[in-house]
Amino acid sequence: MTQDTFAGEFMGGDVWLVGAGPGDPDLLTRKAERLMRRATVVFYDALVGPGVLALVPPGVRLESVGKRSGRHSKDQVSIDRLIVEAALSGERVVRLKGGDPAIFARANEELEACRAEGVRVRICPGITAASAAAADLGMSLTLRGLARRLTFVTAHARAGETVALDWAALADPGATLAIYMGKAAAGDVSRGLIAAGLPGDTPCALVEQASLPTGGEFMTRLDLLPIAAKAALGDGPALILIGQAVGAAVPGKRVRDSAGIAR
Ligand code: SAH
Repeated sequence: MTQDTFAGEFMGGDVWLVGAGPGDPDLLTRKAERLMRRATVVFYDALVGPGVLALVPPGVRLESVGKRSGRHSKDQVSIDRLIVEAALSGERVVRLKGGDPAIFARANEELEACRAEGVRVRICPGITAASAAAADLGMSLTLRGLARRLTFVTAHARAGETVALDWAALADPGATLAIYMGKAAAGDVSRGLIAAGLPGDTPCALVEQASLPTGGEFMTRLDLLPIAAKAALGDGPALILIGQAVGAAVPGKRVRDSAGIAR
């Protein structure tokens, strides 16, 4: 395909919400890379890795609107306004988000803000953290007969608050749970699910910085999850996977065992 095939894909005044994937730049889509090259400005999150940002050509303005829990550098309304104003001034705007833009990434606020001002806005999907974590663990997120349901859930809670999730609905032995933003809430997750009937020995995995060589995989079980999260995890983004499917994981060489954590 020649470059002309894409004429019109990205015009001045357009916004693309682009999935940057889990960190490894090789896991970026070809479309994402093309849009990043054609943009005049790229607004990116803290979760977007340096390997991906390195693919943005020097002439393209790179603006961090990074958010990491507890350290919000820009609130969502300011980000919405930045994007819309750039588009209205005729720029080709890429809004680069970690993973997939449609999963726990506040895409809706940005879509609505653009549409309210008549700005054309589209989504380029990306590989979400759960897919990257499963790949690192060498496991399938679903298992015929054993894990027929896959639930993406966020366990994000404000500092000092407990997460309010419907534990009864989540405690399904026939499901795999992929918990985003769950590091701080690992204790609540473990207690909530066990109280709702999920066995304490249900296999769990913690994957920090999935897809990146700096990350790590940690195998544990539901009752030990809080200890494992405290003992094993560092500062990077981490995903929690829970369910029978996790029992079939064969983690890569990066696996680290902490004392007291079952394999
Ligand atoms: N849109 C993103 C999710 C954003 S929410 C996606 O589709 O992946 C942020 C949470 O995603 C983090 O707290 C963490 O739980 C998870 N996450 C994002 N990137 C990750 C990575 N490389 N490894 C592990 N977890 C990750």
